[in-house]
Amino acid sequence: MRRVTLLTNPDVCNLRCPLCFLNQRALLHCDASNARDDNRDCVLDSENARLANSNGERFSDCNKERNCNKERRALGMGEMPFEIARAAIEKYAAERDVSGKRLLREVIPSTMGEPLLYSRFDELLELCESLGIPLNLTTNGTFPGKWVREECLAKLLCACSDIKVSYLASEQFGGWKANVEKLVRVRDKLRGNADYSEAADADCADVDACCTKVDCARAVNAKCAGIAKSRIATVSLQVTLHKKNLQKVPELVEWASAIGIDRIKWNPVVFLSIAPRELREMYGIDSTQLQNLRDELQTELRSQKLKHEGSLFFDRSAGLCPVGGKCGACPFADEVWVWPDGHEDHCPNPERRFGAYGLRTF
Ligand code: SF4
Repeated sequence: MRRVTLLTNPDVCNLRCPLCFLNQRALLHCDASNARDDNRDCVLDSENARLANSNGERFSDCNKERNCNKERRALGMGEMPFEIARAAIEKYAAERDVSGKRLLREVIPSTMGEPLLYSRFDELLELCESLGIPLNLTTNGTFPGKWVREECLAKLLCACSDIKVSYLASEQFGGWKANVEKLVRVRDKLRGNADYSEAADADCADVDACCTKVDCARAVNAKCAGIAKSRIATVSLQVTLHKKNLQKVPELVEWASAIGIDRIKWNPVVFLSIAPRELREMYGIDSTQLQNLRDELQTELRSQKLKHEGSLFFDRSAGLCPVGGKCGACPFADEVWVWPDGHEDHCPNPERRFGAYGLRTF
């Protein structure tokens, strides 16, 4: 497998975005403190404070009467026990191609929920570092707890291949912009210290064969000297395009270019088949608007340094799968999704998980 996505804590989050699939499905978020310690049922404790976001906001809408952690995990929610994460990473890290080169390129912690709120995130980070496998992190940009500190951002930037910050979160969290700017500043500092150069990649064409430690360039031997330089994470924005933010695109592109964002992934809003009609009316955008934006991003909003990518540019008819559900041609054949209970799935299509035939409704 080239990439492993671990659903570490898909319903543990410190924000409540209206377009989140949990909200579309009318499911409640889990209180992070209740999701800790594997199979433990809901017990509120003082750790709740530790998991508050940097605005000091706490979790409020856990329904501990009905949704204990054990039940939620079996339904694809709740928190993943660390032993499941470890077993999946070690299993796929051991896979080699015929030349002996490791196949696994990245580990992705949950892209739903806030991965930095996974109570075993530090251990996940350490395990991946020890194996020399970068994380690919998608975060809401609140950087809860210690993660907002410069040294912790630096740790993330050294351990990840890319850090994608969700723009949806900017609608819920006032400190979003300042946090993104801080992340980019730390990235630049690291790149400066490492004398970052594109040329480093050329010397490291065989990174996986020679490199076992992600921080080898901080020690190290001549052959590996360029690796860590090229491994400082890029910083991307993940923009869910919807009716209410469409007019902010030029301003966003200008700001992102000015501060040095590496890439923006533009993804038109996805609605589950069961999403409420009011939500579609409030946030839906039509194909003409999307085509206009696509044209603008390829002409007047085009930039030399800032890459524009994402599903906005996919040629597809169905909104929930890159190839319209043609599973014989699935682009994710060499990826795997590991659910919190340890079972594996090879389809990221949210409709299959959360749509009309997905989980039962609580
Ligand atoms: S397996 Fe899922 S993502 Fe892949 S083609 Fe089928 S529906 Fe799409």
